[in-house]
Amino acid sequence: MRPLVATVDLTALRHNYQLARQCAPGRKAFAVVKANAYGHGAPAAVRCLADIADGFAVASLEEAEQVRAVDRSARLLLLEGCFEPGEYVRAAELGLDVAVQGEAQANALLQASLCRPLNVWFKLDSGMHRLGFTAPALRQWYPRLADAPQVAEINLMSHFACADERGHPLNEAQLEQFTGLLDLDFTHRSFANSAAVLTMSAAHMDWLRPGIMLYGASPFADLSAATLGLKPVMTLTAAIIAIRDVAVGECVGYGASWVAQRPSRIATVSCGYADGYPRTAPPGTCVAIRGERAPLAGRVSMDMLAVDVTDLLQVALGDEVELWGARVPIDELAQACGTIGYELLTKVTQRVPRRYVSD
Ligand SMILES: *Cc1c(COP(=O)(O)O)cnc(C)c1O
Repeated sequence: MRPLVATVDLTALRHNYQLARQCAPGRKAFAVVKANAYGHGAPAAVRCLADIADGFAVASLEEAEQVRAVDRSARLLLLEGCFEPGEYVRAAELGLDVAVQGEAQANALLQASLCRPLNVWFKLDSGMHRLGFTAPALRQWYPRLADAPQVAEINLMSHFACADERGHPLNEAQLEQFTGLLDLDFTHRSFANSAAVLTMSAAHMDWLRPGIMLYGASPFADLSAATLGLKPVMTLTAAIIAIRDVAVGECVGYGASWVAQRPSRIATVSCGYADGYPRTAPPGTCVAIRGERAPLAGRVSMDMLAVDVTDLLQVALGDEVELWGARVPIDELAQACGTIGYELLTKVTQRVPRRYVSD
C-alpha cells in the first residue's frame, strides 16, 4: 500500500468545536462541514460532533443528504439556500434550515408546495456583495416571507468579508447594517464565521458558524492556530521511498531546478501534487522527519517530492514524513505557497485515505 495517509484527530475536532462555543457562552454553533468537512470527511466529522454540536451547515442539498444520512435530527443549514426551485421539496423532507439569498430564491420558496414549513435564514448583503438582500429589500420582503405558509422560523444571517483583518473598517460597517435590521422580529440571528467567533464578540449573535477553526487552522495571517488554542486535526503523513547521495553540481527533480551546492543526501517521499500537496511550494518549504525539519529539494512531482535530508542526523528508508500537522503547521505551508489553510485542506484528493483516530 502506498504510504500516504491523512490522519484525522477526532478528539482535536471536538476540542476545537468546544473552544468555538467557549468564545461565546450561551450561544449556539453550526459546525460548518461543507466541502466534505473541509476535506476531513463529512460523515466522520458529523458522527464525531453529533452529541455536542447544536447543528451543522453545508453548501448544497447534496452535502445535506450526506449529513442527514449520519444524523437524522440535527439542525442543518443550507448556507446558500436552494439552487433550483425543485430543491425546496427535498429540503423540507430533510427538515433543513435554508438561507434565502435573493429574490429568485424567495419567489421559488413562495411557490413551493412543501410537506412542512422550512426555517428560513434571510441573508443580508451587509457589504460583501456576494449573496443576500440589501437592507431595504430585506425589509420589503420580510412580511411576505413571515406570512408565508412555507415558512416556519424567520431568521437573519450575514457574512463578513474581512473578519480576518481585525479593525478593518468594513467589519464595523457590516455590523451596523446587521444591527440596523434588528427591530424586525427574527427568531435567531447569525453572523460569525471563525474569525468573528475568535475576535468579534459583538458579532456573535445567537448562532455561530465556525468552519476553519474546527479543523485546527487559523483564519488569521498573523495569529497562529496554536496561539488561538486550536489543535490541528489533520496530519498528512507520507514515507521515504528512496534515498540517494548526490554530488555537488548534480540536480534533483523536474526542470533540474535544484542543484546540489554541497554533497547532499536526498530523500524521495510518497506525496505529490496529485494528492493535494501544493506544487507552488517554494524552495525552503519544510517537512518533518523524526521530529526534525528538512527542506524540499526541487519541484513537487505528481506523486512524489524530494527532501534535502543532508542535515538530519539519521534517516532511513520507510521513515515517516509529516507534510503538515503538529510539527509543520498547515497555515505556515499555506502562507509560503501564497494560499490559505482552507485551500490546502479542501484540496487533499480522493486518493489519500483518511484514517480516524481519537483518544
Ligand atoms: C464557509 C462559511 C462559513 C465558515 O467560515 P470559516 O471562515 O471557515 O469559519 C461561515 N458562513 C458561511 C456563509 C460560509 O459560507
